[in-house]
Amino acid sequence: SQKVVLITGCSSGIGLAIAVLLAKDEKKRFMVYATMRNLAKQEPLVEAAGRTLGQTLEIRPLDVCDEKSIKDCVDGLPDRRVDILISNAGLGLVGPIECQDIEEMKSIMDTNFFGLVRLLKEVLPDMKRRKSGHIVVISSVMGIQGILFNDIYAASKFAVEGFCESLAVQAMRFKLNISLIEPGPVVTEFERKVYEEGMKTDLSKADQVTADIFINVYMKHWSQIFESLGQSPEVIAEHTLKIITMDNPPFRHQTNTLYTPFTTLKYADPTGDLPIDTFYKAVFQHDKVFSASLNFLKLLRWRSRKSFSLDKDKS
Ligand code: NAD
Repeated sequence: SQKVVLITGCSSGIGLAIAVLLAKDEKKRFMVYATMRNLAKQEPLVEAAGRTLGQTLEIRPLDVCDEKSIKDCVDGLPDRRVDILISNAGLGLVGPIECQDIEEMKSIMDTNFFGLVRLLKEVLPDMKRRKSGHIVVISSVMGIQGILFNDIYAASKFAVEGFCESLAVQAMRFKLNISLIEPGPVVTEFERKVYEEGMKTDLSKADQVTADIFINVYMKHWSQIFESLGQSPEVIAEHTLKIITMDNPPFRHQTNTLYTPFTTLKYADPTGDLPIDTFYKAVFQHDKVFSASLNFLKLLRWRSRKSFSLDKDKS
């Protein structure tokens, strides 16, 4: 039978791509409710959805920052049923924290973190009652690893990950699945908006060194990073389709294998120094990245020797 999929933030980017891919499924496995904050921005989705509109795809308003709008949307679904919830709406923010005001930071947390919390408060009780449902959250590699000048954004995604990790155990008791999809850089409006906003940052509150690193190191390499590592929203949609059709979907799924060596650093060194050192070298001493990777390999070898000798000590 057809699965009801509710997706947030479908006016552009990843949300739009997922909505269209699922709606166009040849076997018509999904009934997609593609939601967006502002219906005036539905044109790109309407166009991409083509003939699926009114068939396997419907567009509904939903603002993740507004509890009533979430409730109204869910109340408007047949039997309030959501089989697969895809929490995708999100905002980015880059820059030195001394140049950002608290209200701006709060709006990132409110959308990226509390937006998910509000959705689950509305949808989770029904899923528990039915003992079925899959919650899919578009997180980020920044949900597991902080990146220079993305302090608040990374914090919002860490919040999302901690929240889901805590809920996952309870979800299991009700036979529900939770999956975090963790893309690296994706070339969307998001990337362009965040870049443009970043370039407009009022740096008068930052010292010279910070302002210089932000503009001449971070922002300067932005497009290079997106060009070399960037994926398309369609690729993220393909990964999402794979995750929602698996029998035993994983809790975490990274979409970009080029990025995995970076996130692996975190798990390789419990002190947390290795990823920080490596990123420092990647940003400030490009030539040393290579030697950093070598050190990483040495460390792995050292660790495996050490765990071996610890085992021996115990016996
Ligand atoms: P995007 O800007 O194209 O899409 C984000 C969507 O969220 C927009 O349509 C926006 O209108 C919507 N949105 C914002 N506030 C909302 C609200 N209050 N209620 C409902 N919708 C709201 O960018 P994207 O890249 O497609 O981002 C989608 C998700 O992917 C985000 O959660 C983002 O953090 C995550 N992500 C993006 C990248 C990237 O590099 N682009 C990388 C990793 C993760």
